[in-house]
Amino acid sequence: LMGYVGFANLPNQVHRKSVRKGFQFTAMVVGESGLGKSTLINTLFNTTLYPPKEPLHPSAERPKTVAIESIGADIEENGVRLHLTVVDTPGFGDFVNNDDSWKPIVENIESRFDSYLEQENRVNRLKIVDNRVHACLYFIQPTGHSLKQLDIEFMRRLHTRVNLIPVIAKADTMTDEEIAIFKQRILSDIEHHQIHIFQAPTYENEDEETIAEAEEIASKIPFAIVGSNNFVATPDGRKVRGRAYPWGIVEVDNEEHCDFVKLRQMLVRTYMEELREYTNDVLYENWRTEKLVSMGV
Ligand code: GDP
Ligand code: MG
Repeated sequence: LMGYVGFANLPNQVHRKSVRKGFQFTAMVVGESGLGKSTLINTLFNTTLYPPKEPLHPSAERPKTVAIESIGADIEENGVRLHLTVVDTPGFGDFVNNDDSWKPIVENIESRFDSYLEQENRVNRLKIVDNRVHACLYFIQPTGHSLKQLDIEFMRRLHTRVNLIPVIAKADTMTDEEIAIFKQRILSDIEHHQIHIFQAPTYENEDEETIAEAEEIASKIPFAIVGSNNFVATPDGRKVRGRAYPWGIVEVDNEEHCDFVKLRQMLVRTYMEELREYTNDVLYENWRTEKLVSMGV
């Protein structure tokens, strides 16, 4: 179904009670400028969260640090309400020296934990607002080489604080073969540096179909992504979201062309609740324990 985001499936993932209240979900995007972060978010949620960028006036002062910008949208699908927040991090990796690019991002994630902890400690805990980041899409430049120092440093610093989901940006600029080799390189770098990326959990006694789905999604990580909010006409007369080239059309929603569908399945359709749970039960809990220990409690 074209343009259908798919979070209406959430009621199958959780209890009825949360369905009435609606869902809160916060996704962060990190990666160098121009890798397609804004485009992908709009493609994923089928909404224009980002108004088209005004070109920067030549005399305008360029920011010198990584900015943290948060944009919210309320979207509804089949009667299910989702309050989505996207945290963008413009400036990441764009400076002459990017050694500390990860720092403001860790600080932002931890300050959201802080605010949650503070609310938990209140007498009235009925109206807790959960602003914690539930997933972080990390955009890897489609170079075909190994990961850069910047990528490794960011993931090493962040993996204990947020669910990391690495994606290969602009995968339409690489051939299938190049992508396959690049994925292997990225995975071996991730393993070598003992970086923990989000994995769909597998439970005992799961039915075969669910296990197969989880394995299929896992096999695509890091997802090779193509984003586009434009519709193009295919030679056989379909209108698809895609990117047109002299040699043909790359379709966003076609699993033969890229892993966009699998990424959306992971993030929205199947594991949104798992991402929220892991954030709360593991990442936040670990942070809280570390904090209390460091305070000598
Ligand atoms: P951001 O700076 O990371 O937010 O990147 P944008 O989303 O603003 O995209 C930067 C440019 O790359 C725009 O001209 C987009 O049209 C283009 N772009 C976005 N996604 C893709 C993609 O998957 N493939 C290609 N080839 N170009 C893309
Ligand atoms: Mg952007």
